[in-house]
Amino acid sequence: MATSKLEKKEQLYEGKAKVLFATNDPDYVIQYFKDDATAFNAEKKGTIENKGVVNNTISAVIFKYLEAEGVKTHFVEQLSERESLTRYLEIIPVEVIVRNITAGSISKRLGVEEGIVLKQPILEFCYKDDDLGDPFICESIIYAFDYATPEEMKHISETALKVNELLSKFFDERGITLVDYKLEFGRFKGEVLLADEITPDGCRLWEKGTNEKLDKDRFRRDLGNIEEAYEKVLNKVME
Ligand code: 5GP
Repeated sequence: MATSKLEKKEQLYEGKAKVLFATNDPDYVIQYFKDDATAFNAEKKGTIENKGVVNNTISAVIFKYLEAEGVKTHFVEQLSERESLTRYLEIIPVEVIVRNITAGSISKRLGVEEGIVLKQPILEFCYKDDDLGDPFICESIIYAFDYATPEEMKHISETALKVNELLSKFFDERGITLVDYKLEFGRFKGEVLLADEITPDGCRLWEKGTNEKLDKDRFRRDLGNIEEAYEKVLNKVME
């Protein structure tokens, strides 16, 4: 079915930052980006004005860039200020964290300061379960519980590292250091595709030169000027 003929249907799911709507084609869904913000496993809740609009556009630009560079993703097209059309995937319940510089939970876990440039990127896996707080898991847990197959994890790890090279370059060219971020993947017609969103909600982005935080850490750590930081990322991403 031509995507121009797609109609928005019933709500399928409401997450912390997005709502998913069905369409009249079971292969496609509409992601609606909200202004709601949560942190620390939803213990902290708030809104970031206009975040949905800003994040929808940032994510669309980044997914288009990744697709153009040969990464297969769920993204089809941005439909409106807050909505994008994506393929309807079976989400793999493994969150992939990629780190280039120490910050956040790895600094706490290993007792190291934030801001250390790593010798090589770190790939971490977490079990995607809000009630459990997305616990850290290793690959043998993934296979023992059949969250994903070894072939799928090989593809996921290779793709995550390719995305890291592409995104690090993309942000670097726009005056931003990509510190770390979370990726999700899903299955679609026998393929594993990059899913979810890539926005300042799920990435740590530091302005080059000033090291000013341009991401959700401003909300998590009550640093203020959150809207301005997200706007700044949008403007740089659009360059
Ligand atoms: P950390 O493990 O240091 O808390 O997070 C590492 C990176 O992954 C950060 O950029 C953070 O924004 C992202 N991240 C980890 N878990 C989640 C999550 O459940 N939701 C979102 N949006 N981002 C996450």
